[in-house]
Amino acid sequence: MAGSADFDLYRPSEEHDMLRDAIRSLAEAKIAPYATAVDEEARFPQEAHDALVASDLHAVHVPEEYGGTGADALATVIVIEEVARVCVSSSLIPAVNKLGSLPVVLSGSEDLKKKYLGPLAKGDAMFSYCLSEPEAGSDAAGMKTRAVRDGDHWVLNGVKRWITNAGVSEYYTVMAVTDPAKRSKGISAFVVEKSDEGVSFGAPEKKLGIKGSPTREVYFDNVRIPADRMIGEEGTGFLTAMQTLDHTRITIAAQALGVAQGAFDYAKNYVQERKQFGKAIADFQGIQFMLADMSMKISAARALTYQAAAASERGDADLTYLGAAAKCFASDVAMEVTTDAVQLLGGYGYTRDYPVERMMRDAKITQIYEGTNQVQRIVMARNLP
Ligand SMILES: Cc1cc2nc3c(=O)[nH]c(=O)nc-3n(C[C@H](O)[C@H](O)[C@H](O)COP(=O)(O)OP(=O)(O)OC[C@H]3O[C@@H](n4cnc5c(N)ncnc54)[C@H](O)[C@@H]3O)c2cc1C
Repeated sequence: MAGSADFDLYRPSEEHDMLRDAIRSLAEAKIAPYATAVDEEARFPQEAHDALVASDLHAVHVPEEYGGTGADALATVIVIEEVARVCVSSSLIPAVNKLGSLPVVLSGSEDLKKKYLGPLAKGDAMFSYCLSEPEAGSDAAGMKTRAVRDGDHWVLNGVKRWITNAGVSEYYTVMAVTDPAKRSKGISAFVVEKSDEGVSFGAPEKKLGIKGSPTREVYFDNVRIPADRMIGEEGTGFLTAMQTLDHTRITIAAQALGVAQGAFDYAKNYVQERKQFGKAIADFQGIQFMLADMSMKISAARALTYQAAAASERGDADLTYLGAAAKCFASDVAMEVTTDAVQLLGGYGYTRDYPVERMMRDAKITQIYEGTNQVQRIVMARNLP
């Protein structure tokens, strides 16, 4: 597995290229064949999960000392990008495993790391991230979920909304208010287990895209957990949540990049096969210019995403800016490129008989989650280089 010393700035090393070859073969053989069914049936991509776990590619970011493969941020991006190229829903498995567990990696005690990262690395448990609430989306610090100290325990009450892989994951990083007077500085982070008494889940949301990725509410009804399940110090949960997003927005950029590449590859082949006016439509300059623009945008999105991954790996000072910029730019590119891919297939592109229709629906979410692109622009404006 590629390590942090193996690449310079944002140029992938030979090891990264080998990893891409391996994950591309796996994605095409074991994930792509189920992508349509997963979307049509709105079901968890179990085949993708099993294939990723069998190849140790489900949570590559977990450090080696906790049983993981210790892949660097660029390697993680490449895994997510290649899975998203064939099935965005499936790419939420490695992406959200990183999102859910990164607070523990960044700020958790040694005991928490040992207890929770091992099962994640082995593929025995998945991790979800619980920040958003029904009334606290972009303004996440306005959350209401409450944690109250009771001796050696904390007792949690509240509702988290839009939680990816809720119900499937064993572990949940939950941000909750421990001191309502302090707003964001009164929020703390905890690890909650699915089996903790008082944890339950809402019905799966009926979504436009990523239908194979379960999104549900999570309810906490007097959930009593040991005090050592707190991640970091009391009052640091919001900071940990935001520091996590600095790193993981790059994985959303990777999803966006992957789905854009998948749609581009499909459309590029299609226009060579499809004949109108007695020739392949690829022979028309109007079509060639569209393909050139699509390819140019993907190349630019990839460069920015890999640059941000390198900044994440090194912990550079401009990571907050670059993470937001990569997510915002790559997701806008994904929406444009997938829409153009549908256009290039004409009427056929508008049907579920061809994958570009699914890709266009799936691409949309990358402009919304881990902060909408309006929020990314606020983050960039506050952290201009
Ligand atoms: C499929 C899916 C999966 C998700 N997974 C997770 C998850 O695993 N964990 C988790 O915690 N959350 C998750 N989310 C939540 C996601 O991060 C939020 O939906 C997102 O942050 C936006 O919040 P909101 O939906 O409440 O929109 P709102 O905050 O209500 O925003 C509505 C609109 O107002 C705009 N807006 C808001 N404030 C401003 C402003 N200051 N300036 C300009 N425009 C503004 C927004 O950009 C948006 O266009 C998921 C969401 C979805 C749909």
